Amino acid sequence: MSVEVHDEWGCSRHDGLLKCLGYKSGPGGVAAQQGQQMHHIAETIIKSGWTEYKFPDLFETGNVFSNDYRLMVVDYTNAVKSLYEKYKKEYGDDLVFEVEYPVSIPELEISVSTIDVLFYVPFQFIHVVDFKTGQKPVSPTSAQMRGYILGALNAGPATEYRASIFQPALSNEFLTAKFTYDECIAHEKMMKLVLHAAKREHVPCTPCEYCGWCVRNGECPATKAQLAMIAIDADKYDVTRSTLAILAEYAMKIEDIIGSLKQRAYAILEAGERLPLPDGRELMLVDGRPSYVWKNPKEAETVLLNLAKTRKGATTDEEAKAMVWLQKEPEMLSPAKAKDLFGKSKPVLQEIDPLIWKVDGKKKLGIGKTAIESEQENG
Ligand code: SF4
Repeated sequence: MSVEVHDEWGCSRHDGLLKCLGYKSGPGGVAAQQGQQMHHIAETIIKSGWTEYKFPDLFETGNVFSNDYRLMVVDYTNAVKSLYEKYKKEYGDDLVFEVEYPVSIPELEISVSTIDVLFYVPFQFIHVVDFKTGQKPVSPTSAQMRGYILGALNAGPATEYRASIFQPALSNEFLTAKFTYDECIAHEKMMKLVLHAAKREHVPCTPCEYCGWCVRNGECPATKAQLAMIAIDADKYDVTRSTLAILAEYAMKIEDIIGSLKQRAYAILEAGERLPLPDGRELMLVDGRPSYVWKNPKEAETVLLNLAKTRKGATTDEEAKAMVWLQKEPEMLSPAKAKDLFGKSKPVLQEIDPLIWKVDGKKKLGIGKTAIESEQENG
């Protein structure tokens, strides 16, 4: 987390906005304030040339500044030092090294505030580093990190763009991603569209893992729409807890109903029957892998027996039956085997294909054997 003035549209909010255009985060809580203080101490250490290791006993919030926090700051500052020494050895005076690098992205009409650490070697690379003090894993490919790179483009020309996360609560290694200039610009274009859409008043939203940080949670349009689906007037309920409690109660009832519907449907399917769907497809139980099956085996048998006579020279019913019914199994020819036997010429396919269901392997009922939804093969 770079030390960031609260900015509704700033980079730290971009991942949330990508998930839900309605997402709006409020001011950071206690953890964010403590994180900022840890950043401040780390920056002081780095700016002093790694000499000034002074830690408070308490955060400004009044919480204890424990040994764990101290170690996190030490691990981070030491990791930055190692990277600095490596780059310095390799690039000498060409290396530009900045701590708390101020940036903005005018193209996105946002101020990004500061990047924790920036390494820059002209015509080679821009490398932004972000110190994460929390435990929620953050990826160096996140929209937030790509945003920081966009902010750092003004450092100068380069051919490679690197973003690193250092998150000592999870790992003592930098997590690094590399981008090309085109990828950076593609991200900028996408965020332009996202921010433009998000700044409109009425935006579609989808509940996601960012809802917990979203200030709209209590009057979220997505929650309202869900409540309306079960005939609840969301305007009657103004706080998240009550709407969630109502939804949870309904969800539990709906789960019970769904469970018993599935059981009843499954009992019918297990008795060997098919369940017609309104659009003409059917549910049925199939053992084994998804495949092609006869829609109506009786009807298929008539057509196959006729084909045995007209296409394969069977002169009696017995001869035709011997071709259509596999002697070893015994089982009628499957659609695939029928096509092998009678060929795939157009006239044959015109007769066979309308008799075939294509079945897929979705576990529609989620119980027992696979319940298959079937659809007519197109030919
Ligand atoms: S609470 Fe609503 S508006 Fe906010 S992120 Fe979640 S779904 Fe989107």
